Amino acid sequence: MGRAVVILDFDVRPNRKPLSHTDRQALLSAPVFGKVFTDHMITLRWDAERGWHDGRLEEFQSIALPPSASVFHYGQEIFEGMKAYRQQGGSIALFRPERNAARFNASARRLAMPEIPVETFVRAIELLVRQDRQWVPHGAGTSLYLRPFMIATEPTLGFTLPSRSYLFCVIACPASAYFSTRTGPPALTVWLSQEYARAASGGTGAAKAGGNYAAAFLAQREAVDRGCDQVVWLDAVEHTWVEEMGGMNLCFVQQSAADEPASLMTPALTGTLLPGVTRDSLLQLSGRLGLGRSEGRINVQQWRKQCEAGQITEVFACGTAAVIAPVGRVRGASDEWTIGDGRPGPVTMRLRDELLGIQYGRIPDDLGWTRIVC
Ligand SMILES: *Cc1c(COP(=O)(O)O)cnc(C)c1O
Repeated sequence: MGRAVVILDFDVRPNRKPLSHTDRQALLSAPVFGKVFTDHMITLRWDAERGWHDGRLEEFQSIALPPSASVFHYGQEIFEGMKAYRQQGGSIALFRPERNAARFNASARRLAMPEIPVETFVRAIELLVRQDRQWVPHGAGTSLYLRPFMIATEPTLGFTLPSRSYLFCVIACPASAYFSTRTGPPALTVWLSQEYARAASGGTGAAKAGGNYAAAFLAQREAVDRGCDQVVWLDAVEHTWVEEMGGMNLCFVQQSAADEPASLMTPALTGTLLPGVTRDSLLQLSGRLGLGRSEGRINVQQWRKQCEAGQITEVFACGTAAVIAPVGRVRGASDEWTIGDGRPGPVTMRLRDELLGIQYGRIPDDLGWTRIVC
């Protein structure tokens, strides 16, 4: 029997005690990222008998689950990260939300979880943003960060088959500008993790799964202990091919000769990298800005040699949260070097301005990337 395609609707149950205007404004003036949440959340359930059902927009609240729920034991959890941006005229836009929906489903497939119709995913996000639109801050570089996620809820310790019930949820938190809008982003010092690996061939590296992050904390702590800001992940076999930085993709600005245009190179999606929406957007934008672009491969030695030869002039990491984070210095167990003059470079800043311009509606969006919600 075929199943009809239905766009699920959500039962809207507004919070009866939303935060007062004054209290909200106080929180919005300097939100600490990830600690303050809006008045509402989205929930949607799935089980093998009913499929997706019981969609709600409701008061932000705790989730009650039996201690036997599968997620607590086997870590079946995936998530997304996206933002709603206040536009110049006051309206609010999402940036390429279908890409996040598609990636969420790719993650779901890898973790043997149910997929959610793209329209339902986007509708859930839009519903929450519309309901909590007063939580979308107005300041330069600020946004409302959206965190859709899904967990396995079947109360069983059995693990021969994946959970037979799931909870999809969306929560939202106001975000200040990631970097000071006055001084711009500082250049980071990064730590080459040669002992630990984030992802191996056949594993879950391309999925946005909580477990990948659980496995990353130790290396991130090591990076901080070594006086670095972030960890750079290398491949799991030879421990030399560059993959990603923390929760962001890496980009290299290469200049083969002084009279050649600069070119953007980012490690190819081999299956162990997370396919970032920011990464993809910057690849497309670089072509429009007259830069060369490629998806390739670079190892630690080449990275160092090309910096010394002036062939790599800039390096930056990119992702939704920080947009673009310039990298100024690289440190490994037995090696250390500076990229360019160690400060954010012009190509990095040009790309950053362009992308932020589109996201905040300052630059016409002829690529159709922004979606006005309200
Ligand atoms: C989310 C994430 C990124 C960046 O993806 P965007 O879609 O650009 O935000 C990169 N690497 C990892 C490991 C991530 O989890």
